[in-house]
Amino acid sequence: MQEQIKLLVELQKVDAVIGEMQRKREETPRHLAGIRAGLDAMKADSEQYKAELEELKKDRRTKEGLLQMEIERIHKSEGRLKDIKTQKEYQALVKEVEQGKKLNASREEDILKLIADVEDREKVASEKAEAIRVKEEEYAKEKDILEGELARIDAEFDGEKSKWDVIAKTVKPNVLKMYQKVSERRNATTVVPVKNGACTGCHMGLPPQLYNQVQKGAEMHQCPSCHRILYWEGNNG
Ligand SMILES: [Zn+2]
Repeated sequence: MQEQIKLLVELQKVDAVIGEMQRKREETPRHLAGIRAGLDAMKADSEQYKAELEELKKDRRTKEGLLQMEIERIHKSEGRLKDIKTQKEYQALVKEVEQGKKLNASREEDILKLIADVEDREKVASEKAEAIRVKEEEYAKEKDILEGELARIDAEFDGEKSKWDVIAKTVKPNVLKMYQKVSERRNATTVVPVKNGACTGCHMGLPPQLYNQVQKGAEMHQCPSCHRILYWEGNNG
């Protein structure tokens, strides 16, 4: 039975390697898709921000055009002043010119604010673009590394599989069946040593009689609570 246990421990080691390979195969595309989704969200945000910036620039151009028109209109009104005959009309036009100038001053203030706002937002927009560039680079590097790992896994996978088959062939069929049944439920650890009267898989204490039988190693025993296959490593184990 000791020999069979040793084989199962070897089988378990190969299973752990294969399991890790499969985990990487499944996890890698998910991991990359996660980064990609983050990048797409950053890009969408950046596009939205740029669109808002363009609107702001358009608003600035419209207001600048309007101000220019008003300046010209006032200029014309001022030119007309010298031709006006009546005092009443003259007063009215002077008032209109003054009001127009006041209004234009506040329009100018508005435009200055817009210009400052556009500058600030342009800075933020280029920061966003830079962040995307950095993230794209990170993504490309990560993708290279992970795809390299996947290629290595693909290259080694068949080798591990045949290693498994070679060991499995030397395991008694009923023992292999027991191993596979437990393995399906317990994944990485199927065969575990007993220590200090307990199963090291689930840490439950074992009945003293069972513990003794496992130490003798004459038969194959399973933990009553987790069903893992138990073995004795010896006193130094
Ligand atoms: Zn157990």
